Amino acid sequence: MKQTILVHYHEISLKGNNRGWFENQLSRHLAALLRDVPHGAMRRFAGRLGIELAEDALPAEVDAVVRRLRTVFGVANFVVAREVPADLGAIKAGLEELAAATDFQSFKIDARRGTKEFPLNSQQLNQQLGAHIQGLTRKQVRMEGPDATFGVEIAEGRAFLSAGKVQGAGGLPSGTGGKAVCLLSGGLDSPVAAWRIMRRGCRVQYVHFHSFPHTTVESQDKVRRILGVLSRYQLGSALFLVPFSEVQREIVAYAPPPLRVVLYRRFMVRIAEAVAAREKALALVTGDSLGQVASQTMENLRTISAVAALPILRPLVGDDKEDIMRAARAIGTYDISIQADQDCCSLFVPKHPETMSDLGQAERAEAQLDVQRLCREALEGMTRETVPPDWRDGGTS
Ligand code: ATP
Ligand code: MG
Repeated sequence: MKQTILVHYHEISLKGNNRGWFENQLSRHLAALLRDVPHGAMRRFAGRLGIELAEDALPAEVDAVVRRLRTVFGVANFVVAREVPADLGAIKAGLEELAAATDFQSFKIDARRGTKEFPLNSQQLNQQLGAHIQGLTRKQVRMEGPDATFGVEIAEGRAFLSAGKVQGAGGLPSGTGGKAVCLLSGGLDSPVAAWRIMRRGCRVQYVHFHSFPHTTVESQDKVRRILGVLSRYQLGSALFLVPFSEVQREIVAYAPPPLRVVLYRRFMVRIAEAVAAREKALALVTGDSLGQVASQTMENLRTISAVAALPILRPLVGDDKEDIMRAARAIGTYDISIQADQDCCSLFVPKHPETMSDLGQAERAEAQLDVQRLCREALEGMTRETVPPDWRDGGTS
């Protein structure tokens, strides 16, 4: 029997006049996402998107498509459906087969008419099909929390029969929310922050600061592996690697030790902002969470933000570490992030970092440094690469 995946949109179904544009972005993303996995034609109808699968598609091939679809922003949920003619007899026969292939004690029918030409309405379909399956299987009908929900969607003379929805990633389609530059460390937080912003439709590019040779090449590889996972959600990410040891050396040599981390961060923001300007990105993203560490007190966030003209988005600002860890597991970055590494910020950290810095203090300290030259040289030493999605093991949302 022919199989089709029916994709249901998330918030984009609400976007009035822009709907066509949102759907186009989603279709383009899906076409690129599925380029190298076997599937048939893709088309829009009745407010949904259908992806046909080969009639003889193997379960592993269907799973590969399903796994990828779970990473797509703008998707509320989807079903893997068997397609039959929109005719009551054919629908009953199809449901019988589906029920025979499903393990359940209780069930309900969730019927929807995408188009009105079918003679029965949703309620009548639910009743008639429910009674039919109950009569055949002697299983119990349960409206709340059944083991199996059999979906029946009628559109364009076809009926799509399914045995359970797959939850989508939610949010808005990639490419509908502008561009931002994320300051990505190898830690737990910044990948989650980037993901949250991507989920709102934004394309994110990444800047990572390293202190090679004081930090290892492995730390840079760790960032690439994290990006292999994050790229599943936007299909390829630009990674800018910035040498930071000279900036750190000067700060350590000439600035008061308690201010070091705040000053590192001010330089990172300046450099990331220069990258954003070149890339025409309109915001920066960081993984800061209020009060999590000394550099993330309100006072220090203010001292750090003061050097930026662009907004700094901090989607984790109100999250607890537990929330962030749970999110990292669902996204698939957790196992990589928790591996030991050396971040440049862990170098030369003073015993008693300032938690209540103010702007004057930071500016006086920087008056001892050649800020412009340090930023310029860091940018001159910067490299750019593209990290493609890595579909090998590891979780998706
Ligand atoms: P993370 O888990 O993201 O490393 P963290 O809790 O360890 O966060 P910090 O190390 O204080 O916090 O970093 C705060 C934010 O500064 C990070 O979330 C990230 O956005 C940015 N950042 C820190 N180190 C780097 C780096 N080496 N390169 C790029 N950005 C960095
Ligand atoms: Mg960190």
